[in-house]
Amino acid sequence: MNLIVGWLYPDLMSTYGDRGNIVVLKKRCEWRGIDVKICSITFDTSEQDIQQCDIVIGGGAQDRQQKLVIEDLRRRKGGILKELFNENKVGLFVCGSPQLLGHYYMTGDGEKLQGLGIFDMVTKHFGKDKPRCIGNLVAEISDRFKVSHLPFRPTIVGFENHGGRTYLGNGVSSFARVIKGFGNNGEDGTEGAMYKHCIATYAHGPFLSKNPHIADWLIYTALSIKYKKTVHLDPLPDDLEWKAHEYACSL
Ligand code: GLN
Repeated sequence: MNLIVGWLYPDLMSTYGDRGNIVVLKKRCEWRGIDVKICSITFDTSEQDIQQCDIVIGGGAQDRQQKLVIEDLRRRKGGILKELFNENKVGLFVCGSPQLLGHYYMTGDGEKLQGLGIFDMVTKHFGKDKPRCIGNLVAEISDRFKVSHLPFRPTIVGFENHGGRTYLGNGVSSFARVIKGFGNNGEDGTEGAMYKHCIATYAHGPFLSKNPHIADWLIYTALSIKYKKTVHLDPLPDDLEWKAHEYACSL
């Protein structure tokens, strides 16, 4: 079996170790004999290359980089990504990238960046005078991530640092409920968003290194969709990963 992982703008969108999510996905596949090809999605990437991706990963970025990225996405790639996700392809987007996949992101300077509208949500940065949402994040996920033979914990952990505050519409569910930290906006207890098989989260970390259950859920879901059958993933020795997870929960 094999998977093609699309990586959105590696040079522009990888804050707080987000590139580690690619490393974790790749290693957890390789340890199980699953081949992985990483397809960096940059300004020059062809539409055909994007169409072949089974999983798409996006990281965080500051407003300046986000502006460059959304201009390119809106030119031609955004429509293809939308099609992929509507066909149930899998995605994980951290902080700055999901802000661009909502209806709009209002930057710290008050500029409205029109998003791709994949997630029914909007994000507003209220400017430098409003404190950023910074710190460790712990949140509770739903049972939908429980797959009988895969590792599972009801929590996710990560580190958040964002000025933008995200507000969900009715067309998405939140990814998790905040236990500790700010999550989407520090007001309504929601953290991240889910649309079909795409996860948006504010958790950096890198996220997947401390949340192996979500890494395996992404791999399992992508393979099941690609090969149109229920796949079995061999268990991996995750003691260190769970220690990191538990430590982050205790902070
Ligand atoms: N520029 C965005 C914000 O501050 C995203 C930051 C990030 O990706 N860490 O809200």
